[in-house]
Amino acid sequence: MLLKLDRTLAQNYKSTSQQIRVMSETWLLQNAYCVKCGNVLTKTPNNTKVEDFYCSNCSEQFELKTGKYIGKQITDGAYYTMIEKIQDNSIPNFFFLNYSLEDYHIPNLMVIPKHYLTQDLIIKRKPLSENAKRAGWIGCNINISNIPESGKLYIIKNGTVVQKNKILTDFNKMLFLRKESEYSRGWLIDIIKCIESLNKKSLSLEEIYSFENYLKEKHPLNNNIRPKIRQQLQLLRDKGYIRFIGKGQYEIL
Ligand SMILES: [Zn+2]
Repeated sequence: MLLKLDRTLAQNYKSTSQQIRVMSETWLLQNAYCVKCGNVLTKTPNNTKVEDFYCSNCSEQFELKTGKYIGKQITDGAYYTMIEKIQDNSIPNFFFLNYSLEDYHIPNLMVIPKHYLTQDLIIKRKPLSENAKRAGWIGCNINISNIPESGKLYIIKNGTVVQKNKILTDFNKMLFLRKESEYSRGWLIDIIKCIESLNKKSLSLEEIYSFENYLKEKHPLNNNIRPKIRQQLQLLRDKGYIRFIGKGQYEIL
């Protein structure tokens, strides 16, 4: 995998954003792959949505976002379109490509699988002012800081390429989330986040209960947080994410 954008591609374009787009799209097509099946990516034939890609083997869809760094929030398109796409499940997976403006090398490439995207991660931006060309238009940011680590798959991290097999395994093992409704997906992802934040290989039910207040804040209408936690742990056990090892102890698989 070549960790550099091809600057010669930029010669025919005047605006920096167009240059970056053509360089990053070409790079993705030549170097990245479908994280579900490993196939090459194909650009979606559609003039208006130039940043879109798909896999001709498994039909998985992707959107590429490019930036100088991967921050806590990533700017995306129209807010209501994004919300609708989450609701009707047509949202793509996201590639976040991070490049250096000095020498165009690529330190990071991250994928956020679509099954980690819930409406609460989509932050509404201020409508564009009256003087703007698209006055009143409302964009959004994706708050990626609230996504658990298992939902941030780094294909390249700090200049190091991660093995393709590991990416495919990590992506596919969480696909069970797609079968859940957005509501129950949200709960499962919250519990996964709590489990991850403990940063341990095995953990106890009591330790997960310590997130009771945090979860109550996130789900104020739920008055049975502890039973809900146990239910989610059972689901995660059934899906092979954790293993029950007895006496209220769990092991992360
Ligand atoms: Zn595929």
